[in-house]
Order: sequence, then C-alpha cells, then structure tokens
Amino acid sequence: MQEIIQQFLPKLEKIRKEIHKHPEVSLNEYATAKRIENYLKKYCKGEIIRIADTGVVLLFDSKKKGKNILLRADTDALPIIEINDFEYKSKAFGVSHKCGHDGHTAIMLGVAELLSKFPPESGKVMLLFQPAEEDGKGAEIVLKSAFFKNQEFDYVFALHNLPGFKKNKIVLRSNNFNANVKSMIIKLDGKTAHAAEPEKGHNPSLAIADILYFSEKLTYNYPEKEDFFLITPIHISMGELAYGISAGSGEIHLTIRSWDLSLFDEKCKELEDFVDRCCSKYKLKKEVSWTQEFYANQNHSEAVELIRRSAIENKLEIQDMTYPFKWGEDFGLFTQKYKGAMFGLGSGENCPALHNPDYDFPDEITSTGIQQFYQIIKEANKT
Ligand SMILES: [Zn+2]
Ligand SMILES: [Zn+2]
Repeated sequence: MQEIIQQFLPKLEKIRKEIHKHPEVSLNEYATAKRIENYLKKYCKGEIIRIADTGVVLLFDSKKKGKNILLRADTDALPIIEINDFEYKSKAFGVSHKCGHDGHTAIMLGVAELLSKFPPESGKVMLLFQPAEEDGKGAEIVLKSAFFKNQEFDYVFALHNLPGFKKNKIVLRSNNFNANVKSMIIKLDGKTAHAAEPEKGHNPSLAIADILYFSEKLTYNYPEKEDFFLITPIHISMGELAYGISAGSGEIHLTIRSWDLSLFDEKCKELEDFVDRCCSKYKLKKEVSWTQEFYANQNHSEAVELIRRSAIENKLEIQDMTYPFKWGEDFGLFTQKYKGAMFGLGSGENCPALHNPDYDFPDEITSTGIQQFYQIIKEANKT
C-alpha cells in the first residue's frame, strides 16, 4: 500500500502547492473546487457531485450492503498575509492557506486515487471536499444541501494537522475533541458631542472599557479544567478620527469558547446582562448579535477506536489528549448528527502554529493521512 501511495505523492504535492499559491477564502473556493474536480476527473474513478457552489463530493458505491462512510476535507484559506517567501507563496494578497486545508485537500485527493485503485468491496464511501470551514458556515450549507438531505452515514471522519506534535503522530480524544465557539458583536449607540463638551453627548468609551474588563473577569483560561471559559477580544472600534468630536458609537467583537454548552450559555447570559446594565449606566442603545458558531466535535468512542486500530495497523505513534483543543471546527455539526470522530495528525514540533503568517502544511505527512483514512474504511467495515 505504502509503495502505491508513494507513486501519488509527487502529483499530490504539486496540486497542494498550486492550491497554496491560489488560495480562496470561505465560500469563494471556485478555482479550488475546479482544481479538485479536474484532478478527480483525470486520475480517479467514482461519481463526482458538485454541491453548495464550491463543494465537491466523490462517491464510491459498491452497490453491496455495507457501511456508509463519509470522509471530510476542508478546502478554504484565511484572510492572512503570507510572510513565507517560497516559490509557491500565495499570489492572492492578504489571503493564504494558514490552516493547512491545502494539505487536507491533497490528502483526500490521495484517498480518492487509492480508492480508485482499490474500491470499497461493500457499502459506500463518500469523500467530501467542504468549503467554508473557517467561518463556520460550510458544514451547515453542505448538510442543508439537497444532496446531503437524503444521505445517512454509519460513520463520519475528518482530520486536522497539528503543529506542535511530532510529524505523523495520531492524536485522539473521546468526547469533546475541541471547543464550542461563538462570536459576539456588541454595537453601542450613544450621542456625539463637541470634544470640548463630552458631557453633552453619550460617549461609549467607558462602556467598552467596562465590558472588556468584565469579559476578562469571566474568563477562566485553564483548558485542563472542565469549566474552561475564554473570551478573546477580536476587534474594537469607536467614533471617528476627528479630534473635535466626542465619540457617539462603538463596537466590540469578542470570540467566546468553552468545553461545556450549558456553562457557555450561562456565562454568555451573564455577559449580556452586564452589557444591559452598562448601557443603562452610560445611556447607550445596544444591539447584540452572534456569529461564527461552531459546535464542539463530539467524538464517538466507537469511531475513536476505529481510528486507534487503524493507527496501530499503520504502526503510527498515538497520543491521547487529556483535554480538548481550544479552537472551533465546523465538523462538530457532522458529529452532532452522525456517529464519528475527528483526529489530529502531527505536523511537527517546529511547524509554526495554525493561523500564523509563516505556517505551511508539511507535505511529509500527506501519506500518513491517506493511509489512516484508507485503513479507517477497512476497520469500519469489520464492525
Ligand atoms: Zn483548519
Ligand atoms: Zn483554521
């Protein structure tokens, strides 16, 4: 198997770098989807289905009774300026693949090619190239699409590369794999006044300061604890750059995360109540809205065991995490609906962190990803 995968690797590295060079942010993955389709048409068998504009599915149907399995790769890039200077650096200014979704895509193309040579003997395998993971919208759009509405899966799986972990190490966790994440937008509306007479208006600055301070007080940034709760200020704006005017409006954008959904709701309610009190105190109107919602991946223990068995079969090093990862992942929507799991694939202790401007997916871990997914299909069919 290893030798066959080796034959695909130069092509996979080439397309990974092409995708890296031409990154597209969430819901704009048109050229990326085209590249994926072209690759599938050229080198793979199976039925290609285009979904939700920029999503691609490759379906292998053995037409025999068996397990129905979904494997997902994400395909979008991020609004980050790449500071790397290699030949395949991003050509789209301000956009780059800093989460390794170019690599996840290459791995899934490798799985597609391997399954084309060795198609599943029973059941169905669906490979999903999913758009818009980074903004939390992709999984929802895909699951709501006409095509997916009629699908049922016995198991769903996805992986994420993990900087800071030894290359090719498989990282596992039952139950929560990562955090529940939601972002809050607080718009404050007061009244402008002459900068010399701020008392004649309603300036939101103290409310912003109080809300930020309160957010910090609510925060309990101890991921090893069950009541971990983290509020991170993402963006703040206020007034205009006009020195004669006391600001009359402002905005705070916060990203909030925790392991536990009920604790999450409880603390968010506390924060909203505090915003209310602040607004009455400083005579401001407010508008609170929520965005970028990610549910924690609920890794099913059976699915985790299949990944573990595959890793053992592939002679890979395994690490069990004692607590979840702090980032959000929209694959959580799949594991809410179906039995499944997400696992980590180490991308090297010295690999820059995800979303760092100098991050780049290490091609050396592509073959492990392919091997793992392929073996997972085999293990799942033994159940
Ligand atoms: Zn990612
Ligand atoms: Zn990311």
